[in-house]
Order: sequence, then structure tokens, then C-alpha cells
Amino acid sequence: MIKVYLRKKIAPRIVNGHPWIYGNEVDRVAGTPEAGDLVEVHYSDGKFAGIGYINPKSQILVRLLTRKQEPVNEAFFFNKIRTAWEYRKKTGYTENCRLVFGEADYLPALIIDKFNDYFVIQTLSLGIDKWKPAIVKAINEIFTPKGIYERNDVPVRMLEGMEQQKGFLSAPFDTKILIQENGLKFEVDIENGQKTGYFLDQLDNRRAIQHIVKGAEVLGAFTYTGTFEIHAAHYGAKSVLGIDISEQAVAQANKNAALNGLEKIVEFKAMNAFDVLKDWGKEGKQYDVVMLDPPAFTKNRESIDKAVAGYKEINLRGMKLLRNGGFLVSSSCTNLVSPDLFLQTIDMAAKDARKKIRQVTFNAQAADHPIIWGMDNTNYLKFLIVEVSDK
Ligand code: SAH
Repeated sequence: MIKVYLRKKIAPRIVNGHPWIYGNEVDRVAGTPEAGDLVEVHYSDGKFAGIGYINPKSQILVRLLTRKQEPVNEAFFFNKIRTAWEYRKKTGYTENCRLVFGEADYLPALIIDKFNDYFVIQTLSLGIDKWKPAIVKAINEIFTPKGIYERNDVPVRMLEGMEQQKGFLSAPFDTKILIQENGLKFEVDIENGQKTGYFLDQLDNRRAIQHIVKGAEVLGAFTYTGTFEIHAAHYGAKSVLGIDISEQAVAQANKNAALNGLEKIVEFKAMNAFDVLKDWGKEGKQYDVVMLDPPAFTKNRESIDKAVAGYKEINLRGMKLLRNGGFLVSSSCTNLVSPDLFLQTIDMAAKDARKKIRQVTFNAQAADHPIIWGMDNTNYLKFLIVEVSDK
């Protein structure tokens, strides 16, 4: 195995367990590895640091898979995936769950979502992509699944010099599958839905709205397939309107509402939420609960300010649409906006809207997406409920 020697001055990050090694942290590579090869990483004094995979095309030169001198082979991946499954079983996420959450399961750049008997995988770096056959074999051995699908139609793969692709990794099957969540049914389109087809990370947060929506008139924006809104209807909202810009998402959301017999209470419309929040505020429309779950407004550090401005705008407008004492349910799914910065943004929005807020709930993602302290990218979801009153 080719050896990679780190510079003397490296970030304590690596010593403390973070698996990423940037090109500028490497002193020399003893040999010429092929992109995606396994390499042995050593500290500058020659001490063993771990084994990982290398990609000279990527800014993150090496991602460590293990800190032990152990063979990285089919059995290694089998054991890692089985360990990930054991964790989900212990924490109560079994029927549908994120089975592997990349770095947080010590399998950098690998995502596996389990939707009952179906599995969707993403191999987002070249080094992990090379192990796809071993990963698929492990899933087959542990679960005997009904189907496995690859959703590698993700632009980030281009940074690794890989193509975007999607398709079956098992015998073909009907890719519109049905899942149950909190006693409700949702159809998940794993072939054409966003990301892996469904956002499992909000599972617990969807339950957190249970009491505040009773008898309420609810507006949801950035609804995707309508999960929060359908939960609101189920939990006793008087009426729910959901807005998403994607016609496809809205069609799926309306279908999901009907699947649960809630189509008389909850309705979805394809509109731009930025316009809706602005215009309806001006028109003086009022709701008891406003829910916002926008996409990541930034993917890089350079545009954090712009993202914060976006979060501030929608939250400010959301607050203005609330009746006195109503509830704002607000999420943000980018790790680049830290929990602190997110709360500060909501605070600024409240001040500008001349509202008083009281925090009801502040959560991260569900525990099948565990957070590793020191790995900021694993701590990405912010979910906040505040009560909003006039000043
Ligand atoms: N709450 C959803 C996830 C929302 S993902 C769930 O729990 O499953 C973010 C959604 O925002 C996507 O469906 C995307 O289509 C939508 N979106 C992006 N820009 C938008 C805009 N300007 N107006 C309305 N929806 C938008």
C-alpha cells in the first residue's frame, strides 16, 4: 500500500478523529497512487495514522476509513454496515432509516437510506464508489432486500472526476414505494424524487408539531412531498395549505394527502414560496402556524451571508403572517449555518418584524443521522419552534 506522510503541522482535527486530509496537510506521497486507491497514512514522525482512500482530483486528498492496521476488504465493509444497523436497532430506527450516514458511521461519502425492504445508496467519492460491489453484497447478505437503487445523480461527484448516474443495483422493481411514518402513509419516488427520494432526517421533528397544530389554520412552505403538512392535518389542524415550487413534488404531496384520506383538510399548490410569503403578508393573510423547511441556501462558505439573508427574509415574512401567539416552525438544513447563527438569524428576523418570540423546541436531525462532535458536517439540521407574539 502506498504511504502518505503528513506535514508536521496538521490540524488537530486529524489527530482528534476527523477523517478528512486536505492536500495542503500532506508532506509527501511515497509513490504514485491511482485515484481511489487505498493508502496508508503516517504522521510526520512515521507513526501510523490510519488507512484511507486517496483522490488527487479532490480537495480532500485522503478520507480515512480506519485508524487501525486492519485489512480493508469486503469483510471490512460488511462489518461496518452491520455495526451501523446495530446502532439503528438500538436507537429505534429500523423500518425506515438512514442506515449509513457517511462520516458519522465511519464510512466517508457513503449514504444508505433504508425504506422498509428497499435501499437507496449514494457513493459520493471515488474511493468509496470503488467499493460499491462490496457494499451491495453486504446489504444483500444482511437484509435480503426487495430492491437496491443507486442515486448517484449528484453534482458533487463531478468534483471527484466521476459521472452522475442512477439506476438499479438489484433486479428492477417499481421505484414508487410506500412507507409508513408516525402512522401515516407516504409514497416515495426513489427514482425521481429529490436526493434519495425522501427526507428521513425530520422524522422526529414531524411529531414535534403534534400539539401546536390542533384546530389551527396552517401554512407550510417548501413542503416537498408534504410530510409536515400531512402530519399537521393528521394531528387535528383545521386547514393546511402547502406551497412548493416543484410541480412534481406538489403532485406527489396531493397524492400523499389522499392516501391518508386527508385531502379535504390539506392541499398543496405549486408556487414560489418567496413570492407567496411576501405577497400574502401584504394582503394581510393570517395563520395560526407557519412552517418553513427550505433547501440549503448555500453549499459553500463564500455565500453564507447570502444564505443568512435568505433565512432571515423567509422567517421574518413567516412571522408577519402569524396571528398573535401563533407558532413558527422553522428548519435549516445546511451545516454551514451553525445552530448559533441560525438562532441569531431568527432573533434578527423577530426584531425586524417587531415580534416577541418564545422558544418551544430546538432540535437537530433524528438520531439515525448521528452527530459526531468535531465533525461539523454531521451537525446540519436545525429545527425550531417558536411562539410569536406582538410586541
Ligand atoms: N419539508 C420537506 C422537505 C423540503 S425540501 C420534507 O419534510 O420532506 C425543500 C423544498 O423546497 C423542495 O421540495 C424544493 O422543491 C422546494 N423549493 C425550493 N425553492 C423553492 C421556492 N422558491 N419556493 C417554494 N419551494 C421551493
